[in-house]
Amino acid sequence: RKGNVIITGASSGLGLATAKALGESGEWHIIMACRDFLKAERMARAVGIPKENYTVMHLDLASLESVRQFADTFRRSGRPLDVLVCNAAVYFPTAKVPTFTAEGFEMSVGTNHLGHFLLSRLLLEDLKKSDFDSKRVIIVGSITGNTNTLAGNIPPKANLGDLRGLAGGLNGVNISPMIDGGEFDGAKAYKDSKVCNMLTMQEFHRRYHEETGITFASLYPGCIATTGLFREHIPLFRLLFPPFQKYITKGFVSEDEAGKRLAQVVSNPSLAKSGVYWSWNNNSASFENQLSEEASDPEKAKKVWEISEKLVELA
Ligand code: NDP
Repeated sequence: RKGNVIITGASSGLGLATAKALGESGEWHIIMACRDFLKAERMARAVGIPKENYTVMHLDLASLESVRQFADTFRRSGRPLDVLVCNAAVYFPTAKVPTFTAEGFEMSVGTNHLGHFLLSRLLLEDLKKSDFDSKRVIIVGSITGNTNTLAGNIPPKANLGDLRGLAGGLNGVNISPMIDGGEFDGAKAYKDSKVCNMLTMQEFHRRYHEETGITFASLYPGCIATTGLFREHIPLFRLLFPPFQKYITKGFVSEDEAGKRLAQVVSNPSLAKSGVYWSWNNNSASFENQLSEEASDPEKAKKVWEISEKLVELA
């Protein structure tokens, strides 16, 4: 049978390119989990994913209620779940003040980390039930959260500190909206959220890989400088960023190529190892990359996991 894969944020950028790559193979049915139903449908058609190879389902990661509803609706569809890709993200690099999710968490960490944390925890039960030969949970990471890289050292750097802001619920009222308890900084909040994504993948691996056989992986697909992720940035940045990445850092990767990379992590038998953070070299060959000290700290991963469980009311 075809594999069934849920991709969050499949209505643009990397998620759409991945849906396209998998949809064209004919071996996958893609559940496009998107906040804008009509856009997702329009984009699926625009890139030519065959109708029988995808379903659009509504998911707003900025609302835990919506995440729970999505998991219920998916379950009631009767479709097995073989692979989950946590891809959606928001990024507010120029924001002066924080915005908040439905439950009152700072928007970047609330959407990118907490929304996906609840989603993947709920859907783990569905993945366990699938008889697919290579079940996977993939959480998209990023170089920017990794302070052991050049890109990860551009200030403001990711730093979760002692997690006091996260523990207090990131509400910006009686506690800082930042994980480390500091002043609001939109670029840092995004990087922190990506560190949480990478820590979550590793904690999943430690807690569930042996028992379930599920592969847990993360990746940095390369710098896809043309996606909507940079939509909130100043116009001059948006103009200069793609050529800068293409000619200076040489980290640039097209949306198509990045989509093929993520599609490999979904379906390629050679990328089935669990607990790995995948990257690609200039010849587009995949390799197991090293995470920064903070992004691979097991103590921090455990704490982020336990605090997140409380925030999304799983514990
Ligand atoms: P895009 O902005 O193009 O895509 C992000 C997707 O997330 C969009 O489809 C968006 O929906 C969706 N989304 C945003 N908020 C929500 C929400 N509340 N609920 C559901 N879906 C939501 O960015 P990219 O494709 O670049 O980013 C995809 C992933 O790749 C992210 O995890 C990002 O961190 C990662 N990444 C990107 C890099 C890059 O260079 N671009 C580099 C490294 C990692 P909508 O279409 O409605 O806007």
